[in-house]
Amino acid sequence: MSRFISQRFTNLEAYVPGEQPQDKRYIKLNTNESPFPPSPEVFAAINAQEVEKLNLYPDPEGRVLRQRLAQFYGVGMENVFLANGSDELLNFFFMAFCDESRPAAFPAVSYGFYPVYASLYGLPHDAVPLREGFVLDPADYCAIGKNIVIANPNAPTGRALGVEDIEKIVRTNPDHVVLIDEAYINFGGESCIPLTGKYKNLLVCQTFSKFRSLAGGRLGYAIGDSGLIQDLEKIRYSTNSYNINRLTMAAGIAAIDSNDYYEKNGRIIQENRAYTISELDKLGFETLPSQANFIFTRSPRIPGGTLYRSLKARGVLVRHWDKPDIADWCRVTIGARNEMEIFLEKIREILEEAK
Ligand code: PMP
Repeated sequence: MSRFISQRFTNLEAYVPGEQPQDKRYIKLNTNESPFPPSPEVFAAINAQEVEKLNLYPDPEGRVLRQRLAQFYGVGMENVFLANGSDELLNFFFMAFCDESRPAAFPAVSYGFYPVYASLYGLPHDAVPLREGFVLDPADYCAIGKNIVIANPNAPTGRALGVEDIEKIVRTNPDHVVLIDEAYINFGGESCIPLTGKYKNLLVCQTFSKFRSLAGGRLGYAIGDSGLIQDLEKIRYSTNSYNINRLTMAAGIAAIDSNDYYEKNGRIIQENRAYTISELDKLGFETLPSQANFIFTRSPRIPGGTLYRSLKARGVLVRHWDKPDIADWCRVTIGARNEMEIFLEKIREILEEAK
């Protein structure tokens, strides 16, 4: 840090993303990416004609993509907001809706970026503890009187709430915005996008990074009441009006138009998840039920940090946090079948050595 940094940020602790090593090839099960390439339609969309237009700015309104998403979800275009990854949407959410009088509340064990954004804007925030077994009790959020952010399914646990539970939270907080972060919704959870027509205080965000194999393209979106979308647009136009680049816009349109391809991949991930959990069960691991493309698991014999390091030394990357509540656990992205087989083989080796 230099002596020039604004005083506002001297104590800010930045978010630390998962490792993206460039030195050697790992089996990469640490950042919940898809093991599958984008659809053939996406490859076709990123063509010379599109590259030729890179001298021109993209449509700041992202009309074609917003139209496609609106059709896909049966909402109006005025209900769709585009962001440079859902991280940008989260950033805009905290900036647009939270202040001293409207603090934010989110689960104490959840996506690590929520407290970072709250701190970035110096916002009061409430990390609500989860219950036994990392269970999120909706009652803890009913009439809480704060803006709420809930990842559903939650990360890193993989546990999901049903739409009725979410509705209870939204209904009992009519004067606050509830953001449901559905980054992992396509792997078994039930989306609450249909509720956005009924509640003016509900925003749902999703991403192209996981299910739609576009993490490198950086594309996310929110669906909600047009009033909330306009508030987000005000922030976006005050920050970066061309936030979605031309190639990503083209890729996003093609990805929406090739839904069957992604649905098929999603089913494979769910099969691989069931397989991995049952093999880990046989090895004595405890794994939380997951409706996401990752699992949260722990060995009764090997501490989480040791397991993470031993796997890394064997060429398999998983995610581990050295934080009191979750230090025993590792989050493992569900990849292709052969990747999960290698992961399990390395686990067996590590258990054998620890005997
Ligand atoms: N929300 C959750 C819960 C996540 O785990 C992630 C991925 N790290 C994101 C949002 C951000 O995803 P992206 O910015 O790639 O859309």
